[in-house]
Amino acid sequence: MFENLSERLSGVFDRLTKQGALSDEDVKTALREVRVALLEADVSLPVARDFVKAVQDKATGQAVTKSITPGQQVVKIVHDELQHVLAGNDENPGELKVDNAPAPILMVGLQGSGKTTTTGKLAKRLTEKNGKRVLMASLDIYRPAAMQQLQVLGQQIGVDTLPIVAGETAVQIAKRAKQQATLGGYDVYMLDTAGRLQIDEVLMQEVEDVRDVVNPRETLLVVDGLTGQVAVEVAEEFDGKIGISGVVLTRMDGDGRGGAALSMRAVTGKPIKFVGLGEKMDALETFEPDRVAGRILG
Ligand code: GDP
Repeated sequence: MFENLSERLSGVFDRLTKQGALSDEDVKTALREVRVALLEADVSLPVARDFVKAVQDKATGQAVTKSITPGQQVVKIVHDELQHVLAGNDENPGELKVDNAPAPILMVGLQGSGKTTTTGKLAKRLTEKNGKRVLMASLDIYRPAAMQQLQVLGQQIGVDTLPIVAGETAVQIAKRAKQQATLGGYDVYMLDTAGRLQIDEVLMQEVEDVRDVVNPRETLLVVDGLTGQVAVEVAEEFDGKIGISGVVLTRMDGDGRGGAALSMRAVTGKPIKFVGLGEKMDALETFEPDRVAGRILG
């Protein structure tokens, strides 16, 4: 589908000088290809522009080593820089703050982003990998089907869910979850908040109220990794209003090249903690900057 960046750059450099240091002209021509590759991978324009500038500063004047071609050398600089931006200062992206039992985790995001599925995946991971006792609760008072969906997932993965009581507000459910988690000796309780098709004031106010009641240890935003620029806008909105501690990018098993990850990291500065790689309950992985960098390059 896409010609990958390595192939493109070898083509470019075949036509250019092959020896000595990379010249300004060589670098400029190569970076045009890099910019196109980033845009094709769905990286937003301003982010691609800044990124290319950073690579330009690093590449100009670098001596061409004998062992690799100039094209490979530029690819390596781009790859390293991608990895650098994607990783930020996050040392352990896959580790969640779940000390001080019961630790509340607030799951937020738009409807259809994969929030409920991700809540189940994370609960399973916390149970199996970290040995935690987890309680899940759905706060989606608008869609009874969403509440049932979480209950069914819970049964599937062997994680408890808060019994459904009709007629409660989201805040009331959150309080009940906290109480049950405390009395029941759970390590973690996860609150799957209601999503909308787009951000609106009522939704944000509700999530804010829940946040203030439980004081979450983690507030994880679940966004569809295939939505590119929209994912970044959603993250900025949620972070501005609610304050998020990290991001889970879903549908990274799809055809997309994952450029949203780079834009997300560059624009919000928030760590991407996990990626969703399918519908099954074990299709969740820790975010690996190296792998995503490779994918963006094609
Ligand atoms: P919610 O409305 O945000 O709670 O979204 P759901 O959790 O109900 O997910 C919506 C749909 O996306 C479901 O069909 C999920 O199985 C699917 N889904 C969730 N995460 C992923 C993922 O990482 N990859 C793929 N391919 N599908 C996903």
